[in-house]
Amino acid sequence: MSETEQKETVPGVDKHVCTDTLNVLDKGYVKLIDTFGDELTIVNAARVSFGVQKTELSKGDIGLIRYLYRHKHYSPFRHLMFRFHIKAPEVVMRQLYKHIVGIEATSDSSVKDHAWNEISGRYKPVVDYYYPDTWRKQSADSKQASDGVVSTETNVEIKKLFEHHMNNTIMLYEDLLERGVAREQARLVLPMNQYTEVIWTCSAQALLNFIWLRDEGTAQVEIQQYAQAMREMVRERFPTLHDIWFEQVN
Ligand SMILES: Cc1cc2nc3c(=O)[nH]c(=O)nc-3n(C[C@H](O)[C@H](O)[C@H](O)COP(=O)(O)OP(=O)(O)OC[C@H]3O[C@@H](n4cnc5c(N)ncnc54)[C@H](O)[C@@H]3O)c2cc1C
Repeated sequence: MSETEQKETVPGVDKHVCTDTLNVLDKGYVKLIDTFGDELTIVNAARVSFGVQKTELSKGDIGLIRYLYRHKHYSPFRHLMFRFHIKAPEVVMRQLYKHIVGIEATSDSSVKDHAWNEISGRYKPVVDYYYPDTWRKQSADSKQASDGVVSTETNVEIKKLFEHHMNNTIMLYEDLLERGVAREQARLVLPMNQYTEVIWTCSAQALLNFIWLRDEGTAQVEIQQYAQAMREMVRERFPTLHDIWFEQVN
């Protein structure tokens, strides 16, 4: 560390207010509400060990971020935070919920890592559902993935069957609500394509790990599209971080 570097101070963290929204699927979206920190935040978190703080990102700092990433020193990446508003079908949200690291680690609570808040079907009736435009075929060699699409003719038939099923389901749901059944119970008839909304606050580590695992061929196609939207947002705002993280895997 040079003498000059040691004398430099940093005004805590920078705050960027972002309002970008990217539409995903037929009615979903990813909205980046806010970020907290930047690439310098990562560097300064790492350099606090030496009592050094910097105000500008240098070439050496970029090397340090690369070093931290390559040697799995992930904790400095947990000081740069993102807050998203996400609207996605329940089937996608269940997968997204599995990504939890880098939120809060100081309490003994069993949900200490979580920063998820979700719209409640107990307060608000469900109104939106995901209708796939294209139905995919089950992959023969991967138990979980899809592979290719059904024929155009079959796709038309399936879309009709699905619409019929959804009309009946929505009718039943609305009928139960009209009969005075509690929303928390009426929703038992609803399928996994119901849209839900969350606010997700996460660290850069959690986000980049999410993108890495889900913008990938074996992940469900729908969640790949959410990961791609988030990757676009990271690439636009923090290109250095984005390129360092993904040059390792692409
Ligand atoms: C294609 C695919 C299929 C999947 N199928 C299933 C399935 O069938 N069933 C199912 O239950 N889940 C499934 N998952 C979810 C998967 O098991 C993970 O829970 C999910 O991807 C979250 O990943 P993560 O633990 O890396 O994320 P996070 O919890 O956000 O963790 C981020 C990173 O922090 C570190 N970390 C986290 N916890 C620890 C720890 N305890 N010790 C040390 N380091 C830690 C690791 O580096 C980790 O990668 C699937 C995921 C994918 C991508």
